[in-house]
Amino acid sequence: MKKILVTGAAGFLGSHLTDALLAQSGAHSVLGVDNLSTGSLANLAHLTENPAFSFLNHDITLPFDPGPVDFIFNFASPASPVDYARLGPETLLAGSAGTINTLNLARKYNAGFLHASTSECYGDPEVHPQLETYWGRVNPIGPRSVYDEAKRFSEAAVAAWHHYYAVDTRMVRIFNTYGPRLQTNDGRVISNFMLQALAGQPLTIYGDGLQTRSFCFVSDLIDGILRLAQSDEHTPVNLGNPTEFTMLQCAQEILNITGSNSTIVHQPLPQDDPARRCPDITKARALLHWEPKVSLREGLQKSLAYFQSCLAPKSK
Ligand code: UDP
Repeated sequence: MKKILVTGAAGFLGSHLTDALLAQSGAHSVLGVDNLSTGSLANLAHLTENPAFSFLNHDITLPFDPGPVDFIFNFASPASPVDYARLGPETLLAGSAGTINTLNLARKYNAGFLHASTSECYGDPEVHPQLETYWGRVNPIGPRSVYDEAKRFSEAAVAAWHHYYAVDTRMVRIFNTYGPRLQTNDGRVISNFMLQALAGQPLTIYGDGLQTRSFCFVSDLIDGILRLAQSDEHTPVNLGNPTEFTMLQCAQEILNITGSNSTIVHQPLPQDDPARRCPDITKARALLHWEPKVSLREGLQKSLAYFQSCLAPKSK
């Protein structure tokens, strides 16, 4: 039985990844590590009785040693623009000291390593769609820099630990992903629009709403990550859904799915908000035989009950 370490296990992606690992045949044991700065134990509550899962409340920016592990998924970081704006220094530390600490564990125990990187490495890109070979356009001191530069530093660290110390590393550049367990208060577009639509409040479109994103349903992303973990690819691989939507189209989809009569209001566009973002997934298709299967409409439908439950009064 393999022992797997998932940092950021109480987060949106970390908790879905943990579930998928525990569900795999031949089962592993999973140790989830999280300092709960943006993650929530509610995302792991269903695993409390599972003997294959254990949890350590720890901040990965401080060295730790859980004993021998076979594989490490490094997913710990604040990830939404609202969270990393609030937790700037913590985000820089998670992506620097935190990544080095987990890489050193992989080196010590000869464990495989998969790092969760991000499309934010491309910044506000001037090539479209974004290929892994594009180096990006990031403002090093702008409001997003605490996240973007930490993630770019992490990629340099992961590449270096592979190059200098032969650690068996992988990196996934994750594009916008959504689904149940998205935080309700982190200001992301899908959670904001879903909750606004369900509550009958106006949908807040920042700027003219013509900026684009490509939205991947969480089950598709986790499938790609597990495939990448099995591969020998050491350079970054984009994972995301290449179907691009403007925020106006996204708002319309959400109004359709929820059947809401909410109106749309425009608010100022945040500084350095990327105008377009869309993954080129040629590499993932060829290497991992991976393709997203869930359309935005289907994914929103699958997420509806979760967002409804977030608005429901909590029973005592
Ligand atoms: N956005 C919006 N209304 C909202 C929240 C976000 O129009 O209530 C826009 C935001 O300006 C950005 C896009 O939606 O252009 C995606 O934002 P999000 O915070 O979800 O993630 P990002 O891709 O910017 O990291």
